[in-house]
Amino acid sequence: MTLPEVNSLYPTNDRCRELLERLRWPEGVMCPRCKDTRVSRLRDYARYECVGCEYQFTATSGTIFHDSHLPLPIWFVAVLLLCEAKKGMSAMQLKRTLWGKDRGSYKTAWYLCHRIRAAMSEVRTMMDGTIEIDETYIGGRAQGVGSGNKDNKAMVIGIIQRQGDLKFIHCKDRPKEAIRKALQEHVSEDVDVIVTDESILYHNNLGSHQEKRQSVNHRAKEYVRYEDGFMVTTNTVESAFSLFKRGIVGSWHKVSPKHLAAYLNEMTFRFNRRKRSDLFIDTLRHMVTADPLTFENLTA
Ligand SMILES: [Zn+2]
Repeated sequence: MTLPEVNSLYPTNDRCRELLERLRWPEGVMCPRCKDTRVSRLRDYARYECVGCEYQFTATSGTIFHDSHLPLPIWFVAVLLLCEAKKGMSAMQLKRTLWGKDRGSYKTAWYLCHRIRAAMSEVRTMMDGTIEIDETYIGGRAQGVGSGNKDNKAMVIGIIQRQGDLKFIHCKDRPKEAIRKALQEHVSEDVDVIVTDESILYHNNLGSHQEKRQSVNHRAKEYVRYEDGFMVTTNTVESAFSLFKRGIVGSWHKVSPKHLAAYLNEMTFRFNRRKRSDLFIDTLRHMVTADPLTFENLTA
């Protein structure tokens, strides 16, 4: 979807809402409170009333859009911009793009960014096939280059299935525990191979997955090794990390630990859909179907 397409297809609140209704209730309108499908449209075109419980609602009631006074066409443009920004977009940049340098408020743009980001999260599935796992440290202030002090940095684990999905996890546990947990939660027991580097974090620390491990020795300047035609490398996950880091440096400048998980979700959501043409529609679908609790937790 391009910006001119979004502008011509969804220029008014009504047109936007028609799409949101189809995405939220593909089988027909249903009461969000009691799931009754007997509903009547009220004279105010946007509203419905449930015949069962008399609850009045619209396509955006109880969703990530709820309680927003912004026109839906503005939301749609903001969603498109965030979908198309491969390295992410800062609230300041969004504000300037939507309203120009001297108008609009940073707070509103920030609110838009956060809500849309909340919709960009995946349903968890177990990965299999060939997996690469690696870790990186971001944020905080380096205590002198090479000092090795990582205390004020956040550790992020990256797991990617070759030809498949990427997952970034913000670790709050000790590194070894975090890695064990990440594998348990995201990698199937049927996985074929798990490629890591030689870091001590992966020595005898992969639990039931240990025997599937292959490693490359970066310290010995080994980045790719072939074994019976199989490519032992962590290059795939490392390029995903570098894309993410360019995003942080280029757009967000500084990520507070509180919001890091949401940024990571946004990044992987977009990355995992990079070859699909329906990223825009899929994000809108998440915005009307995601559990609003997820969002409330995020901003709590
Ligand atoms: Zn009802």
